[in-house]
Amino acid sequence: MKNLLKKTAERATNYLEGLPARSVAPQQDSVAKLSVLKELLPEQGTDPESVVQLLDETVSPATMAMAGPRFFGFVIGGALPATLAANWLANTWDQNSVLANVTPGTALVEEIALSWLLDIFKLPDDCAGTFVTGATVANFCALAAARRSVLEKVDWNVEADGMFGAPPITVIVGQEAHPTLMKSLGMLGLGRNRVVRVAVDAHGRMRSDALPKFSGPTIVCTQAGNINTGAFDPFAEICDAAHEAGAWVHVDGAFGLWAIAAPKLMHLTTGMNQADSWATDAHKWLNVPYDSGLAFVRDSDSLRAAMAITAEYLPTESQARNPSDYTPELSRRARGIEVWAALKSLGRAGVAEMIERTCQHAKRFAAGFEAAGHRVLNEVVLNQVLVSFGDKETTQQVIQEIQAEGTCWCGVTTWQEQTAMRISVSSWATTEADVELSLQAMLKVAAEHGKK
Ligand SMILES: *Cc1c(COP(=O)(O)O)cnc(C)c1O
Repeated sequence: MKNLLKKTAERATNYLEGLPARSVAPQQDSVAKLSVLKELLPEQGTDPESVVQLLDETVSPATMAMAGPRFFGFVIGGALPATLAANWLANTWDQNSVLANVTPGTALVEEIALSWLLDIFKLPDDCAGTFVTGATVANFCALAAARRSVLEKVDWNVEADGMFGAPPITVIVGQEAHPTLMKSLGMLGLGRNRVVRVAVDAHGRMRSDALPKFSGPTIVCTQAGNINTGAFDPFAEICDAAHEAGAWVHVDGAFGLWAIAAPKLMHLTTGMNQADSWATDAHKWLNVPYDSGLAFVRDSDSLRAAMAITAEYLPTESQARNPSDYTPELSRRARGIEVWAALKSLGRAGVAEMIERTCQHAKRFAAGFEAAGHRVLNEVVLNQVLVSFGDKETTQQVIQEIQAEGTCWCGVTTWQEQTAMRISVSSWATTEADVELSLQAMLKVAAEHGKK
């Protein structure tokens, strides 16, 4: 075991050290060489060192350098050093973190991490929180609690009796709701299409003056951080209107929730903590390894009633928090360990600094593109920048050429019917030098494309 792990650590450090110098997108020939893995199920085994060697030699070169400093796709970060190392250690412990009295160490660390998160997000300390795989499942959990609560108020027990014959629930979403939120609604029997869509403004923010009249069981799904523009819904106005009518307000803040941790960005989140539930990711802006999402619910009983296996409200034997009372899964790894490690290694100040720094980088990108005569389509309030290189075809081609050039990687998106390149600066590892290097490389590709 010792040799195996030592050698693997060496392979891992070699990989990480090589990232800044290599192409961010994998080279075609590396991807082609993956085919050596395509074999029938081997009859005989292979020694562990050779197994890892094969993986490293074939898959490492074919990876996208998401752990490196110049990957700007999909609003995802890298993995902070403490979180990668903590992930290794926690996987070594191999704790099935279901019950606090069986795995007390990981259960306690997760409980502590949750209390720190409530502090960071400025939420009441009696909110329930849960560690899940990502924001999709976090939205699912929070909306399950919402479904439970709004139906309980009209004497319907949805966990016991299901959705058939239940009083209807009105679900209100903004036109710019993330597609995975719609998926969560579908999984909960609330319907992807059976929603009231509220118009948004030019930045993608739900227009509070366009909210429908509330009546009966109602869930309003708001957004912190539009996937394209980074904009935030007007939470205070929405919460006021919804709460007056007894409706539940949910916030999908997969990355945007973290803005509240940064003094310079906090103003964007006004009223956000007045909602009833929140979903976010740790594997995006907190920079922990996949897969790591978080949900918080003000009324902890409703999350527990929706997720616990035992009949709702059964008192548990111990006073300690059992992780499985709050998750869709039973068996689970203690993914809160890496969240704890991130918060412990950064501290409150470090989290704020990382969030603010990445937003500064985004502003620099926007200024650089504008100075070169390119159009930035959004007001850069957060870490998202949308750049157009002209018409749809030109923009798509330039993005492809930027990806192939390899200095950095950005994806393509459509914003209000315009094709754009989306730059998301979310990684702890990105430095000012990385931003300049990437900017110059992208501007050069765009200029050369213009000469064709
Ligand atoms: C990324 C994202 C999601 C989905 O998160 P996953 O972690 O990929 O499941 C949901 N909503 C928003 C706003 C996002 O940015």
